[in-house]
Amino acid sequence: MHIDLATIALFGALQALLLAPLLLAATRAYAGVARTSLRIWGTVLLLQVAGWVLMGLRGQVSDWLSIVLANGVLMVSYAETTRALRLLLGAPQRRALLLAIGVAGWLGIAWFGVAVPDYRVRVYIASLALGCYLLLLAWPLRHALRRGGSTAQRVMLLVLLGALAGWLVRLGGLVLHPANAAGLLAYSPANAAQMIYSAVEPVLASVGFLLMYNESVQTELHRLARTDPLTGTLNRLALDEESLRLFRAADRPNTLAALVIDIDHFKRINDEFGHATGDRVLATLAAGIRRQFQPPAVLGRMGGEEFLALLPGTGLAEAMALAERLRVAVAAMPLVPDAGIPGVTISVGIAAYRPEDTDVHALVRRADRALYDAKRAGRDRVVATVDDASPALPGPAGRPPQRPRPAE
Ligand code: GH3
Ligand code: MG
Ligand code: MG
Repeated sequence: MHIDLATIALFGALQALLLAPLLLAATRAYAGVARTSLRIWGTVLLLQVAGWVLMGLRGQVSDWLSIVLANGVLMVSYAETTRALRLLLGAPQRRALLLAIGVAGWLGIAWFGVAVPDYRVRVYIASLALGCYLLLLAWPLRHALRRGGSTAQRVMLLVLLGALAGWLVRLGGLVLHPANAAGLLAYSPANAAQMIYSAVEPVLASVGFLLMYNESVQTELHRLARTDPLTGTLNRLALDEESLRLFRAADRPNTLAALVIDIDHFKRINDEFGHATGDRVLATLAAGIRRQFQPPAVLGRMGGEEFLALLPGTGLAEAMALAERLRVAVAAMPLVPDAGIPGVTISVGIAAYRPEDTDVHALVRRADRALYDAKRAGRDRVVATVDDASPALPGPAGRPPQRPRPAE
């Protein structure tokens, strides 16, 4: 069978040429990081077309064009491919490193292209540069190999593995048969394998990229649909879901604690400083409260300036200690200093899971009643329902300790 490698290269370039405008046109529909990475990807395809066409003209145009310029363009395309994917994966872009690899590789190839022509050394240098790029790509993709990892990222890993295998075959061919160093377009099984893969790679990699792109947009939409925009905590919908999930997992007393947190006299802030400043205060406070609740704890906005925290694997005493730390931290929190807002305080009602709780609402209702007691007792305090004769925490200095009242 005769395989004309130049024709295959042309075929690959044609595919990339058709694909690039489609992807670039699609960027208009999107925004943010995903859009930037898609735009880079489309441009990369065009660069690869230019690179491969120039390379295919070897012998018909000057070596400055078919070796130096072609490899320069391809190096930029590899660097940009790496950047686009790292951007999409939320990994640091490392532009300086990407540039350094590309420039070093390109200078080496140029030297061994026109000054001291040596095809084999050129392939070694290109392989080294490509290997560095593959490593920088594979590293952030490694999470995909974990259980439940992203399918789209696995597809992309597979495509990259194919590219690596193609290069290794070509390298192996050169090492084992140095006499075959007649150039990429000269037929050898190793060259053919790499060329065929290179020709289909634009399509394969673009499919992988689009899958990843789609997944990242879906993840962002899912996050937005579950997040309260002002406070960054879970919204009501997500809070309901998470409450159900945690309640199902609770099976013994003290395996789930609920904290209802309400800001004291918040209306006064709005009345005195305006609603917009009130929003800023609420956002600042929520950020501070969020810091106190790390996963597996969940924190959501029940409404207004009231939050619900659910702490799995936590008993009443532990929850009270945490809530007290939170109360003290909030009271000391600097709030929108430019608006001259005085510090604010919170009241917290707490309840712990009991086997007789029929649903999560029963638990939250008890915590809510405890909050009501905290408010009645003068605010700025933590109160628990008397689950297991747990002590009430004293209020702040100067206020009498509040006795918890029995639960409903
Ligand atoms: P208490 O100590 O009894 O909790 O007094 P309070 O003034 O905080 O009263 P309550 O909790 O019943 O009322 C909450 C107020 O918070 C009502 C509303 O003016 C304000 N509020 C609720 N949601 C928002 C919001 O998203 N932004 C702003 N700026 N204010 C809000
Ligand atoms: Mg309030
Ligand atoms: Mg309230």
